[in-house]
Amino acid sequence: MKKWVLFGLLLVAAAVVAEEDENEAPECDPEACQLPNCRCSGTDIPGGLRARDVPQFVTITFDDAVNTRNMETYRRVLYNRRNANNCPAGVTFYVNHEYTSYLGVNELYNRGFEIALHSMSHQVPQSYWAEVTYEDMVLEFAHQRIQMAHFANIPFDTIKGIRLPFLQMSGNTSFEMMARHDFLYDCSWPTVAHTNPGLWPYTLDYRSTQDCIIPPCPTGSIPGPWVMPMVSWLDLLNVPCSFVDTCYWIPDLNDEQGWYNFIVANFERHYNGNRAPFPFYVHEWFIAVNPAVERAFVRFLNLINSLNDVFMVNSQEVIEWVKNPITIAEYRQKPCKSFIPTTCRAISCTPLQAEHNGNIYWLDLCNVCPRVYPWLGNPLGQ
Ligand code: ZN
Repeated sequence: MKKWVLFGLLLVAAAVVAEEDENEAPECDPEACQLPNCRCSGTDIPGGLRARDVPQFVTITFDDAVNTRNMETYRRVLYNRRNANNCPAGVTFYVNHEYTSYLGVNELYNRGFEIALHSMSHQVPQSYWAEVTYEDMVLEFAHQRIQMAHFANIPFDTIKGIRLPFLQMSGNTSFEMMARHDFLYDCSWPTVAHTNPGLWPYTLDYRSTQDCIIPPCPTGSIPGPWVMPMVSWLDLLNVPCSFVDTCYWIPDLNDEQGWYNFIVANFERHYNGNRAPFPFYVHEWFIAVNPAVERAFVRFLNLINSLNDVFMVNSQEVIEWVKNPITIAEYRQKPCKSFIPTTCRAISCTPLQAEHNGNIYWLDLCNVCPRVYPWLGNPLGQ
């Protein structure tokens, strides 16, 4: 009897191993994996361009809910900026639903910025995201895209990117959801091993060579979505950090010049290296509570907006460039990105009760008020 049980267990174990092997992506074959829809993970420059011919992209991103308070910072610091080619500068917002003002989202979209997704719930504990099911990932992101387009009155097709809460990876699950729901890119996966030279965006048709900082990372072959790696900054003692506000050894928070030098030093590692997109990933509160940091940030933006080979862009523009790499000279000839402006019939909904937790929420949006506070499984609050 015991023998048969053991034998049965061995069979099950063998079946599990075989299944895992079957889904495991093979090592990347650069001959088979070609742009525009496939790229091996690596620090080589797309299209084989020389670094000095590559537009230095700068991707500035802000996370979490958009509200009336942080809109003041966004207006003060980000509005009315142009790159040296006279095209409007880009910024990407990873927005989660809870406490978000959709009036703010509509305004940011109409300024030409990119609206991306940061989940409907952004819920704790972090382990929820590590173990999340495929079905829950659909509720958190695919449904959030419908919700965002509806309440902010922005075109569904312009929402292309996601960032996972806490940068907690979920193995293959988030990428499988993205592939089936036609998302373009994920920007959640930090690298500390590939900062100099920096890791360029790539696809998951083949096995990734990126270091996995917050496991589980994807291992399967998942054609379609792009990985936009979060290339870490290095703090003053060369300790890597994914968000500027999580760097540990930093200049004094009242030292504007120190902060300016710190930002420029990180920028130059990219600009004087392989020109992998330079990330400035931050949360708005860090800028708002530290005026000297804000002044240094504004000086840095003024600097890059004046350089002929540097472009502050929406993250999705970087992926479009990687798919079809062109030189700075060609890039400067291109027409500016276009977008369809939308209007907002602003409405402030009377306090809405949430069915999932009984809390009362205020909700500003560009549409008609929902019946209940929108949430997982009921993204439009019907
Ligand atoms: Zn967040």
